[in-house]
Amino acid sequence: MGQKILVVEDNELNLKLFCDLLRAHGYEAEPVRDGREAVERARAFAPDLVVMDIQMPHISGLELIERMKSDADLRATPIMAVTAYAARGDEERIRDAGAEGYVSKPISVIRFVEAVRGLLDAAAARAAAVETEEVSAEEAPELAAESDEKAAAEDPEEMATEAPEAETEKADPSRHSGEGRTPPSDEGGDEETGEEEGEMDPGSSPG
Ligand code: MN
Repeated sequence: MGQKILVVEDNELNLKLFCDLLRAHGYEAEPVRDGREAVERARAFAPDLVVMDIQMPHISGLELIERMKSDADLRATPIMAVTAYAARGDEERIRDAGAEGYVSKPISVIRFVEAVRGLLDAAAARAAAVETEEVSAEEAPELAAESDEKAAAEDPEEMATEAPEAETEKADPSRHSGEGRTPPSDEGGDEETGEEEGEMDPGSSPG
């Protein structure tokens, strides 16, 4: 019987992809669609590993990682965060929250499975070490190296300009849709005043 992996992911397609992938590699995958159920479900399922999406409604994966890492029953369970829009600051926050691993979306199937295996191996080694004597958790240098390499492969300058946005507690994805592109003909046109309060429709246009 395979090791148990709890997959927390709000996106149905990703959830299915991750679970199918894990099952194809012999793991027992348990899907969780709603992050609000994640901690409870983790306690009930007692997984060997948690795959954690970061961008979710209601509760962010970051917060869930923090909760699990402050839970006596769950803190030893390795967590692999999966996130899109990864800037460098994001990875740091994810690691600060306590995640042992990190993979960016869209995932590479091979990297995903390798990361899962690596975390499970590291956790098993840690558990074995703990049996003989207590040991501090300073593992997974290879994972850090891997994501550094990945980050370097992408455009570092673009990511650097994006990074400050991640500072705000709740990143609002809708901000991106309007920003940066100006519609060809807007009624106002006097954006240079800096005032944007005239956006509301006065109701003069009955559809
Ligand atoms: Mn998501």
